[in-house]
Amino acid sequence: MKAFLKKILPGKQSRQLRTRYLYLRGLCYRGKNYYCPFCNHSYRKLLPGGFNLPVIESMQIIGAGLRQNMVCPGCGSTDRDRLLYVYLNQKKVLDKKGLRILHIAPEPMLAQYIASNNPAEYICGAMYHEGVYYGTDLVIMDVQQIPFPPNAFDLLICNHVLEHVADDLLAMQEIYRVMDKGGIGILQVPWSPMLDTTITDESITSREGREAVFGQFDHVRLYGKDYPAQLEKAGFTLSKVSATELLTEENTKRDFAINQKEVIFVVEKQT
Ligand SMILES: [Zn+2]
Repeated sequence: MKAFLKKILPGKQSRQLRTRYLYLRGLCYRGKNYYCPFCNHSYRKLLPGGFNLPVIESMQIIGAGLRQNMVCPGCGSTDRDRLLYVYLNQKKVLDKKGLRILHIAPEPMLAQYIASNNPAEYICGAMYHEGVYYGTDLVIMDVQQIPFPPNAFDLLICNHVLEHVADDLLAMQEIYRVMDKGGIGILQVPWSPMLDTTITDESITSREGREAVFGQFDHVRLYGKDYPAQLEKAGFTLSKVSATELLTEENTKRDFAINQKEVIFVVEKQT
């Protein structure tokens, strides 16, 4: 349906129609079991999302794979979006005055939420992909060559991008460059706790080969436990925040349907 709408409608109309469709779908799932903070409704269940491949199971990849109760039927937010919502709120990240934010490959509901907090500057950027509608408010950019001066942002969000990028160290260094001293970044990737060292192999270029080794047709590596060390190599100081740590308080009130195995990789450019 999504592809069909893109063909027959200009982007804005297509998005409006999608919003109405999601609202009606959400009505069918209303209940008490799970809560979505983005659309502020509770549902009896959320929708499954993701997909399974043998490598996702054998390597126990976190941040990938089929999950039940992943997608909110009312707004389309995912478990990853809701985890970041909890983090941003608990740490009061968006409360800082004069916040300048760069959000690369923005997740729609998260982007809408961040914008509603009226940061001083909020720029969204994404790599160009043929056939995708890009709003005029999106900067088309390559994370390996970010078109902004040094120290331009206090908060940088770039989730599930680095595993697609040919030179991820260069991308990390670019993120470090445009981040101001004292700024923080959230750089989520799918990773395997079974792997000591990240697997990367430029000779694997076929769809089937990448699915078999990296867990997705357009991934060029599978991160391992050395992902934090790679971020540190780019210059960052890193702290890891586990989902369970964040959810201890939240879950006593309502269930956001978040993957408890997730870890948030928070990087800082120290002064
Ligand atoms: Zn929702």
